[in-house]
Amino acid sequence: MYLKRIEIYGFKSFADRIELDFDRGITAVVGPNGSGKSNIADAIKWVLGEQKIKSLRGSKMEDVIFAGTIARKPLGYAEVTLVLDNSQGVLALEYDEISVTRRLYRSGESEYLINKTPCRLKDIQELFADTGLGKEGYSIIGQGKIDSIVSSNPQDIRHLFDEAAGIVKFKNRKQESERKLERTVDNIHRVTDIVTELE
Ligand code: ATP
Repeated sequence: MYLKRIEIYGFKSFADRIELDFDRGITAVVGPNGSGKSNIADAIKWVLGEQKIKSLRGSKMEDVIFAGTIARKPLGYAEVTLVLDNSQGVLALEYDEISVTRRLYRSGESEYLINKTPCRLKDIQELFADTGLGKEGYSIIGQGKIDSIVSSNPQDIRHLFDEAAGIVKFKNRKQESERKLERTVDNIHRVTDIVTELE
C-alpha cells in the first residue's frame, strides 16, 4: 500500500484545488517557511480522522477551512481526499485503489467518504486500524514526535506496539462488546425491577 495522490480544496492555505501525485519511494516536499509544507501533513492526518484540533495546529476545527486573505474571500468548506494504492490488499476492501475523503462545512457539518460513498468516521478508523496509517498510527512522524514518544507514558508506548502488532482492531471490538454487555446487564436489571413491581 502506498499513497498515490492527495487532493486538497479549501484546507488551510490551499484555497485552490490542488493535486499532489506521489510515487513509490521517497518524495520530498520543499518550500520556503510558511509556504504550506506542514499543512500537507495536517491534511493527511485530518482525512485519516484526526479530531484533536491542537494536533492540527489550530484552536477550533473551523480553523482548517481557508480563512481568506486580503485579496481572497474565505471559503465555505474544506475537502481532502487521499488516494491509496491497495493492489496488495493491505486494506480490507476489494479495490486496487481506495480513496478516502473528509469534508467540513463552516456550519460544522462534516462528511466522510470511502470511494466516494458516504460513510462514518468509524468506518475510516476501522479501515486503517493496524495498518500504521490510522490517526494513532506511526506513519506520520511530526516535529517533536520522537521526543514525545521517548518521554510518553508506558500505556501510550504500548499502544504503538499494539498498532504495529495488528491487535488494535481486536482491542477496539472487545471494548465495544464490553460496552454492549454493560448496557444489556443494565437493561436486564431494569426489566427485573419492572417485573418485581408488577408481581
Ligand atoms: P515552516 O517551514 O516554517 O514549518 P511550512 O511550509 O510548514 O512552514 P505551514 O505551517 O504548513 O508552512 O503553513 C503556514 C501557513 O498556512 C501560514 O501562512 C498560515 O497563515 C497559513 N494558514 C494556516 N491555516 C490557514 C487557514 N485556515 N486559512 C488560510 N491560511 C492558513
